[in-house]
Amino acid sequence: MAYFAGIDVGSTTSKTVILDDDGKVEAYCILRNTYNLGESGRKTFEMALQQKGFSESDIAYIIATGYGRRTIDFPNEVEPEVICHAKGTLELIPACRTIIDIGGQDSKIIELDEKGVRKFQMNDKCAAGTGRYLDKLAKDILQIEVEQLGELSLKSQNPVSLSTQCTVFAESEIISYLSRSEPIENIAAGMHYSLAKRVIQIGKTASIRFNEAIILSGGVARNVGIVRAVADLLRKEVIVPEHPQLTAALGAALMARKRLASR
Ligand code: ADP
Repeated sequence: MAYFAGIDVGSTTSKTVILDDDGKVEAYCILRNTYNLGESGRKTFEMALQQKGFSESDIAYIIATGYGRRTIDFPNEVEPEVICHAKGTLELIPACRTIIDIGGQDSKIIELDEKGVRKFQMNDKCAAGTGRYLDKLAKDILQIEVEQLGELSLKSQNPVSLSTQCTVFAESEIISYLSRSEPIENIAAGMHYSLAKRVIQIGKTASIRFNEAIILSGGVARNVGIVRAVADLLRKEVIVPEHPQLTAALGAALMARKRLASR
């Protein structure tokens, strides 16, 4: 039996998926990065290998993707993350026509047709359209864990309006709401609507059509408050895969498997 690996070295986390000959997932690992991306990329791979008692020589082909894909030197090939997201997501949900991927320090909106990527737009210039917006505001201002934000925000009937889309200015707006005793769930919900609005706007500005099925992926898709906000603003159903952080690593592993099959 041959095995194949996809490694997605993101700006915030590194992910590995190992597939067998039949395309079945044998192991996966999600690891928060240290400042040393290359080391984190290798570690996530080694941890996935360990789950099955595999060694590196058991893996027939490795493809790396993600922002830090060139920080590891052992993969056979590298591929752009947009292609890997599309491959992985289409494998899981063949009806997918739009991917909204919100990661730790970037976000991407990808329009697909049955053949693959039609168009995409990426935001990696401004924290306000990424997970960093929520990470920073939750930790520094609300003083709660970012993982708590989603459930908390679902209690809100009246999300606050955050007029600014900038993380730094949003901080002062939120402090002002807190000083007026605004319930924290309304602030959390307001933050989700603000981030969702920004990401959708990035797509609309690039004339991306939000055709269904719409898939929300990336670590931020684990936040139910963001899922609600995106669905609400688009007035469409939004689907989250079971492991939304792994779609690009899965796509890379699928491509690795295909590479060897076509030789
Ligand atoms: P990247 O691929 O860009 O490195 P990820 O797609 O792994 O990043 O997303 C990381 C982001 O996901 C971080 O901002 C983190 O706070 C957020 N995140 C991860 N898990 C959760 C969770 N359970 N609830 C809310 N946010 C989460």
